[in-house]
Amino acid sequence: MYLCQNDLLIHQSGHKIMVLSFWEKEFIQEKFDVTILGAGITGTSTALSLVEKYPELKVCVIDRAPVSLGASTKNAGFACFGSPTELIHDISVMGEQKTADIVKMRWLGLKKLLSRVPEEKMFYQQNGGYEVFDHGDSSFAMVEKKLEYLNQFLAETIGAQHVFSLENNTIWSSFYQKMIFNPFEGSLQPAYMMSFLQSLARQKGVVFKTGVSVKEVIPEQKLLISEEGFSIPFQKLCITTNGFTKTLFPEVNVFPARNQVLITRELADLPFSGCFHYQEGYYYYRNVGNRILLGGARNTDIQNESTDQFGNTLKIQHELMRFLERLYPGASENIEMWWSGILGIGNVKEPILSWKDEDIILGVRLGGMGVAIGSFLGDKLAGEIGISLGYTE
Ligand SMILES: Cc1cc2nc3c(=O)[nH]c(=O)nc-3n(C[C@H](O)[C@H](O)[C@H](O)COP(=O)(O)OP(=O)(O)OC[C@H]3O[C@@H](n4cnc5c(N)ncnc54)[C@H](O)[C@@H]3O)c2cc1C
Repeated sequence: MYLCQNDLLIHQSGHKIMVLSFWEKEFIQEKFDVTILGAGITGTSTALSLVEKYPELKVCVIDRAPVSLGASTKNAGFACFGSPTELIHDISVMGEQKTADIVKMRWLGLKKLLSRVPEEKMFYQQNGGYEVFDHGDSSFAMVEKKLEYLNQFLAETIGAQHVFSLENNTIWSSFYQKMIFNPFEGSLQPAYMMSFLQSLARQKGVVFKTGVSVKEVIPEQKLLISEEGFSIPFQKLCITTNGFTKTLFPEVNVFPARNQVLITRELADLPFSGCFHYQEGYYYYRNVGNRILLGGARNTDIQNESTDQFGNTLKIQHELMRFLERLYPGASENIEMWWSGILGIGNVKEPILSWKDEDIILGVRLGGMGVAIGSFLGDKLAGEIGISLGYTE
């Protein structure tokens, strides 16, 4: 038995359901040609590509949060496509062809993003990226030896010449005296990026239904069931829930991975600008004006960081503060705030783009470079959905 109280139906078991007005119910339950679950960069880019390719389609995006609540507005804002040690590692594990395919996705994704969002709207700056090394780290010698090979590989893959070059590290004596520079990397403000993409999608007719947390997908009835007790019908459903996908589809090979981030207050005479990678990208830092943003170190506590729960832990905080002191002595006394975000990762780095059945498609497992891949994957998802609806690309 339910009791109605303050617009909630409360069951004797304590279960609560929000009571909708007729108007809200009509809006939430309206059927769209394509329903996208997840309003991060992947879902929003999919919606944009759909209405750009097929303007007559009715497209809606559902999310539990007003803008997004996963990685797209929590990340470090690196617009990057792979540091030298990461590329060498990936080539050794996946081979040249697979690595080239993924690098190309990142490169084309960045181009697409930059074609949609004006640089000044997302504070994009192409200040370049660097990989830094410890003294005595044997991976530097390996990268140095393979630098020409990597440049050739990237020239063939993305058409950019002389991507990596050696630079003297005149900034930090606690790191090795050489670093690798990549002038093609940039940085941006991810929340402004997402806000612009979502406004653009709205202008093109996409409807956003936010504050709706989906707890179940019933494929046979083509229904989404929300935590609040709404049932929402769909025709074609695109799942872009990335690191949270397992709660709806436990069998999908994508795992949550938390990343913790800090930002300092403004610091005097910050000695660097640009984006920096360390230890195959497990640590990353950049300047935000005169502040330092630093994140990662997940590799120092893999077990506890394999979670889809937001939060900060003392272990990672201590490790990041220790690292921060190497970048700018005294900065750990000047931390303004901490946060975390949730990645979707797997045992391979390729994103998953696959049909679950004839009406449900998945676009997940963006890994650590979703700012780059998101727009590319969205475009591919839109193409697939279009074909399933009878369009020829
Ligand atoms: C701390 C951190 C730093 C990073 N730094 C960078 C970087 O510098 N450069 C880079 O390229 N990449 C970076 N990444 C990775 C990048 O942010 C992600 O790969 C990318 O944002 C993934 O986008 P997405 O849209 O697939 O997923 P998300 O942004 O996670 O979006 C998924 C959406 O689904 C919604 N959702 C999930 N489940 C449900 C549900 N049941 N009901 C309703 N809504 C639901 C969530 O609210 C969320 O909005 C970083 C990630 C993190 C966490």
